[in-house]
Amino acid sequence: MRDEFIFPPPAQAHVAIQGTSKCFPVRRIFCVALNYADHAREMGKEPSMTAPFFFTKPADAVVEDAASIAYPSLTKNLHHEIELVVALMQGGVDIPVSRAKDCVFGYAAGVDLTRRDLQNEARQQGRPWDMSKGFDHSAPIGALRPASEIGHPDRGKIALSVNGVTRQNGDLNDLIHPVPQIIAALSLQVALAPGDLIFTGTPAGVGPLNPGDSVKGEIDGVGQVSFTLTDKIGCAR
Ligand code: MN
Repeated sequence: MRDEFIFPPPAQAHVAIQGTSKCFPVRRIFCVALNYADHAREMGKEPSMTAPFFFTKPADAVVEDAASIAYPSLTKNLHHEIELVVALMQGGVDIPVSRAKDCVFGYAAGVDLTRRDLQNEARQQGRPWDMSKGFDHSAPIGALRPASEIGHPDRGKIALSVNGVTRQNGDLNDLIHPVPQIIAALSLQVALAPGDLIFTGTPAGVGPLNPGDSVKGEIDGVGQVSFTLTDKIGCAR
């Protein structure tokens, strides 16, 4: 009988829900790449309007709001990417665009931390992006706001500042693939499920972070996310 784990199962990754003591259990983290035209161009790519494409982060990459995060290993070019995060409370396969919003519990502001030097190297060598995107503590997320309170934001400022200086300043209205289209497209790739999070892409202005930096992101009508970077820990590299 398989009734005992050989060690305690890991703690359930979760995100706070604004104004309550309840929290949202995280199942998986999916991320859309190059979903704002100005960011695609700053990355040297032509924006693709045909279909969104995705990568993932592990669920336990989530970091709660206002945390201190150690500057990650193996990079000299850690980048910030402010993003609207969608939290699903229903899933399914082949979800029609017209029903996609019904799957959404709520929204948050999150940062897709990226080891840009590792990503560029992976691109050049035709290797997977995973270790440039899905490293430990790579997904700081602010408190979720339920769609029942704020609706489904599809326009408004999405911005990020470092040490009080604005770096990214875009508008949700510039998403190439809006949230319902993202959910529909992703549900063709995997069976979506309650607890899944989707990072929806970042506007232009991504750039490097350094130990000691204080980072604040905000999305109009949704909320904020903040964190501070501390020195590298654990290894000399
Ligand atoms: Mn991103």
